[in-house]
Amino acid sequence: MIVNMSEKATEQEIEHVIERVREAGYQPHVTRGVERTIVAAVGNGRRHEIEALLVAAGVENVVAIAQPFKLVSRQVKPERSVVNVGGVSIGGAEIVVIAGPCSVESREQLLSTAHAVKRAGANMLRGGAYKPRTSPYDFQGLGLEALKILREAREQTDLPVVTEVMGTEDVDIICEHADMLQVGARNMQNFALLRRLATINKPVLLKRGPSATVKEWLLAAEYLLSGGNDQVVLCERGIKTFETEMRNTFDLAAVALARDLSHLPVIADPSHGTGKQSLIAAVSRAAVAVGADGLIIEVHPCPERALSDGAQSLDFAGFEKVVRAIAEPLRRRVGSARPVPVETKA
Ligand code: PEP
Ligand code: MN
Repeated sequence: MIVNMSEKATEQEIEHVIERVREAGYQPHVTRGVERTIVAAVGNGRRHEIEALLVAAGVENVVAIAQPFKLVSRQVKPERSVVNVGGVSIGGAEIVVIAGPCSVESREQLLSTAHAVKRAGANMLRGGAYKPRTSPYDFQGLGLEALKILREAREQTDLPVVTEVMGTEDVDIICEHADMLQVGARNMQNFALLRRLATINKPVLLKRGPSATVKEWLLAAEYLLSGGNDQVVLCERGIKTFETEMRNTFDLAAVALARDLSHLPVIADPSHGTGKQSLIAAVSRAAVAVGADGLIIEVHPCPERALSDGAQSLDFAGFEKVVRAIAEPLRRRVGSARPVPVETKA
């Protein structure tokens, strides 16, 4: 349930409503917007006691939350959230570009990539230390050694670092070395991991599961917010369909839909979304056109030698070209109409 306070509600009236929500057996979540305050009653309580707040002083109306996800919904927080990752704002005016190798393979490989992507305009660095591989015989990541290399790259370039966490046992050590923790697609519904990440003081990048609906994805994010961590960025990385030419099917509309349903920033991963170097620029532009707040792109000094995901990794020159292609304004005429600005960042 949501209690919308009137624009003129006093602090005392808001406090009273918060107290009543608690007494009714719910957890109060307060969103103080520019114009008005919203008090959401989350959990299982006595609904009629919240409905009765309609007559309390300072209350405009009381409505049910239509979606199963509550705190991530725009009904509870209509204004868009901005997530700060080591000084980089995701969800603001700028399209944030996160780039780096699929896996950290060596100090040389990561440091050269970090400097190259920074030169090309990236705002953040990615690199896997603990890798979720389909086969147990494939390269599993360098673990702690990779975390140390990532930290060194951060010190040299000033680029905040995101890296994947696969299990609860690695959370503390990754928090010590990285600026943001990535929940990989395969772990989107690892509820023990989500519950643990809800308690940390670092932002989380939550990838959509390969077979997850948008609703399931947002409910996974709800685990983080309801547990106390609202520093969450969503990432569309492609889903499984009957299509076989591409590694996954990048779900472009899901980027727009997630931004419609949720206030959380949404970024796109065209690398895993397609599995093909040649499609990164086109899919990146499309994602930005539908409102993506950022991109995460795999880059390797020599993709043909990469220990994971070489086919979808760009080399340094390729990445530089892609960044320019995304930034370049649309120069083509569309039908016979004169171009008008289109609002994609509602
Ligand atoms: C990755 O980012 O390298 C990765 C494994 O991504 P995903 O979980 O989307 O497959
Ligand atoms: Mn990868």
